Amino acid sequence: MKEAVRVGIISLGCAKNLVDTEIMLGHLDRHGCEYVLEPGEADVIVINTCGFIGPAREESIETILETAELKKTGRLRRLVVAGCMVQRYREQLQANLPEVDAFIGLDELPKVIESTGLGSPTESETPIPTGPSRSLYDHLAPRHLATPSWTAYLKIAEGCDHTCSFCAIPSFRGAFRSRTEDDLVAEAERLAQAGVRELNLIAQDTSHYGRDRGETDGLPRLLRALNDVEQLHWIRVHYLYPNTVTGGLIDAMAELPKVVDYVDMPLQHADAAVLSRMLRGGSAESHLKLLQRFRNRMADPAMRTTLIVGFPGETDAEFDHLMDFVREVRFDHVGVFTYSHEEDTSAHRLKDDVPQDLMDERRAAVMELQAGIVNDRNRDRVGRTVEVLVEGEHPETEFLLTGRTAGQSQDVDGQVLINDGMGEPGSFVQVELTDAAGYDLVGRIVSGTDRSPETP
Ligand code: SF4
Repeated sequence: MKEAVRVGIISLGCAKNLVDTEIMLGHLDRHGCEYVLEPGEADVIVINTCGFIGPAREESIETILETAELKKTGRLRRLVVAGCMVQRYREQLQANLPEVDAFIGLDELPKVIESTGLGSPTESETPIPTGPSRSLYDHLAPRHLATPSWTAYLKIAEGCDHTCSFCAIPSFRGAFRSRTEDDLVAEAERLAQAGVRELNLIAQDTSHYGRDRGETDGLPRLLRALNDVEQLHWIRVHYLYPNTVTGGLIDAMAELPKVVDYVDMPLQHADAAVLSRMLRGGSAESHLKLLQRFRNRMADPAMRTTLIVGFPGETDAEFDHLMDFVREVRFDHVGVFTYSHEEDTSAHRLKDDVPQDLMDERRAAVMELQAGIVNDRNRDRVGRTVEVLVEGEHPETEFLLTGRTAGQSQDVDGQVLINDGMGEPGSFVQVELTDAAGYDLVGRIVSGTDRSPETP
């Protein structure tokens, strides 16, 4: 009998890229390949790259070069590189990485079959798509979840129509295009039937959903439709953009029982002059007003943002303004990036004048401030009983379970360490919070909830 081809997959970058990886896995499933976790055991490895900013590209290149070594030391026969970095830099990569056997851009995901040598090579005659990505997957695309079976991302749109001056994403991910509501509900239903209880909505800008079709209430309508998908328990919305958040969206997020009180809005900065140079607009005052509107409608929403320090021309005073803003909002989760001077962006014309060590210092200062805030926020929660999604045994000790509250999204936020009680992975339980440990919470299970996977 012919031996199955063993395939290893390395997915770099964000959750949006992970969904693309899952679609490639879905195509591979149809060809009966066998997956291996250990790269040394793979015949073929597919690396889905991130091309967003310099450090992400460096990580992608290092991963490619390290993996290519397995052609000499392991059983690797083919190395395939896919994703954002290919879409953005295909020609340079082809010229400089002879160790790579095939490149797959964002619009060619099904090509993973022929690229890995599993299918007919005829498709290789199809012209290579050039320019920004234009494709949009739908619920008919095969998808093999790489997340635990109870959680999944739902990519509601592709591309971006904003022109943030630091961001190259629209130049390769293309213009914003929304999937249809029916298509998204069909995918959500299929995921729920397969056991998914927590759905995380993602896009470059989720609150823009439907605007490419002229709809201004697209996201609230979609949320109402997804709220009716029976087996779903939590729906979390990521990546809101301040200018496209409407009163109707805030109402829907606050009112719909399955949509969790989680406000993720990448604000990037809070100083009006920096925001203007970023071509985003707004100010600390407008941000505060908007976040307060969520707080007026939700009891204690978890709030997440991402920020950029060291944008060209960022003065000490502008940075201090950002620190004051972080102090005032008291976010639950903050990600901080140092500015990356990217070609294909309008900020590339500005002088990249904040030295890297000063950017690093500013990043560390925000993170230190935020660590204290999170600690205080988590301490305030001790004594409460909250719903927790159990995720399984702690990787370092069998005496702890880990889980997440509705205010903690997977991979990016903290978690709950459960030191007393039992709960099946993927089930929802009530946990009394007994302590705070840095970014994490500690608690004990006091009871199950009605809508666990076993009792839909
Ligand atoms: S909203 Fe701005 S930062 Fe986000 S993907 Fe679009 S252009 Fe880039």
